[in-house]
Amino acid sequence: MIIAIDGPAASGKGTVSKKLAAHYGLRHLDTGLLYRAVAKALLDAGYAPGEEARAIAAAKAIDPARFDETALKRYEVGEAASVVSAIPGVRAALFDFQQEFAAAPEGAVLDGRDIGTVICPNAEVKIFVTAAPEIRARRRAFELRGRGEKADEAAVLADILARDERDRSRSTAPLLQAPDAHLLDTSALDIDGSFRAAIALVERMRR
Ligand code: C5P
Repeated sequence: MIIAIDGPAASGKGTVSKKLAAHYGLRHLDTGLLYRAVAKALLDAGYAPGEEARAIAAAKAIDPARFDETALKRYEVGEAASVVSAIPGVRAALFDFQQEFAAAPEGAVLDGRDIGTVICPNAEVKIFVTAAPEIRARRRAFELRGRGEKADEAAVLADILARDERDRSRSTAPLLQAPDAHLLDTSALDIDGSFRAAIALVERMRR
């Protein structure tokens, strides 16, 4: 079974995906890490994330087996990731890895922005996870503070809105709910409630 989870930043899709993967005994790929790794490679080398040729070269060179998730989850890396991810050559360079991950016989859980639309259009289960922007900003600020990063909720909200807009308006693989994806709004749900709602959707769709 392939479970495709998409949604905007801090919607809860990462947590839901991890828990679904553990529940069903499937491997999980957080595809945001791929774009973050490209962004971090550019930032570390002192280049702007919008430098197309360098971003494409970095995308071809990433090694997911060696990802340092803590470093990749840093705030500025996420912001730069949403710039590199709009470059079609970057998306093309990361395409095969994601499809191969999903093609394992037992299936997998993948989460991102274009899993149900582009990477796994034939996934048995597609869920689009969302939440009100203010709720997402509060969660992201809380998460950042937990990791010792500074976080002003109003500034995080402004960045989230700008990132949503960039992700939705790009020409290649924009953030979009697939027509056959089920919407899961986690605004009023905690982690456990979101997970239980996701399980209910999976059980309904897999039949
Ligand atoms: O999900 P996460 O916040 O880690 O993603 C970082 C950025 O990577 C997103 O804002 C988005 O621009 C990009 N991304 C994408 N396609 C994916 C996953 C992430 O464009 N499948």
